[in-house]
Amino acid sequence: MRYTQPLVGNQHIQTYLQKTIKNGTIANAQLWLGPEHVGKSTFLINYLLSLNCQQRTAEQTPCLKCQQCQSLQRDNYTNIIWLNAADKAVKFDAIKQARGSSLHSSLYQGVRALVIEQADRLHAAASNALLKLLEEPPVGLYLFLLSSDRERILPTIASRCLTLNFTSVAVVDLQAGFPQVSSQTIALAQGLPGQVQLFLAQPKSEAQRLKLLTTWVQIMQTEALSARLQLAQSWFNQDKSGQSGLQPVLSSLSLVLHDILTIQAQHVAQSPDLPYASELHVIAQRRTLAETVAALHKTQTLWHRQLTTPIQKKLALTNLLLAI
Ligand SMILES: [Zn+2]
Repeated sequence: MRYTQPLVGNQHIQTYLQKTIKNGTIANAQLWLGPEHVGKSTFLINYLLSLNCQQRTAEQTPCLKCQQCQSLQRDNYTNIIWLNAADKAVKFDAIKQARGSSLHSSLYQGVRALVIEQADRLHAAASNALLKLLEEPPVGLYLFLLSSDRERILPTIASRCLTLNFTSVAVVDLQAGFPQVSSQTIALAQGLPGQVQLFLAQPKSEAQRLKLLTTWVQIMQTEALSARLQLAQSWFNQDKSGQSGLQPVLSSLSLVLHDILTIQAQHVAQSPDLPYASELHVIAQRRTLAETVAALHKTQTLWHRQLTTPIQKKLALTNLLLAI
């Protein structure tokens, strides 16, 4: 577990979590919602370290030196089970195991927690095991469910959890958190600290994101469908994996449309540091707010559809090129 300081953005959650440690009012079951890369895992690692630490600072941060801190950082701490529901190997056995280990809780020192990332992707058997755990919570076990898709969390599960909503981070907070990073990288990260870190670790991914966004801007400036198709040609051939190949293309279109919407609604650009900022203003003037909303809606509908074959992908993409 890597401790990160300072945490970037979501100050209200930082303050709340510090208060719960100070007052000993930690909710047993928590649902942490927010976009991917917003910092949920990072916040949770910091929180678990703080909860476990034997010599916390006055600000409720971990000392990083005591035995508990050391063993957590070395990842040899058996009291915390960290699962990702998207991992096919996650069976409800792991959840049952968390339940079972409560019987021996008096043997252990420190916090016991079960963390489930991408909790919206739990399959039925695991959801049932989880529900049982929530209905009869074992003493001393904390449960943290992380998700970026609230709609897909079962209401029976959500209603038994304290919900914390993470929101994307303001540009000024990202700049403060990453003072050495260029304004273009900050703008491309779209309010997500984890995305900044990803761009820093893989500069290629930043270049790819910029290329996708720039191509969408070019497409929206172009009237003729044939010219639009030509610009998008590489996306048709890129891979044959249907929906998964379409995701980055759709997510980049959503970002462009969001920026256009912001210009239309507030007459200011959200990302003035991007190289195509002036083109966005021109596009924003040429269309109505209702048209942008409709295009965004179409993009998101397509996002949630299950496309499995290259033909489906091609048709869907062509329709989108016509509609935006
Ligand atoms: Zn410590």
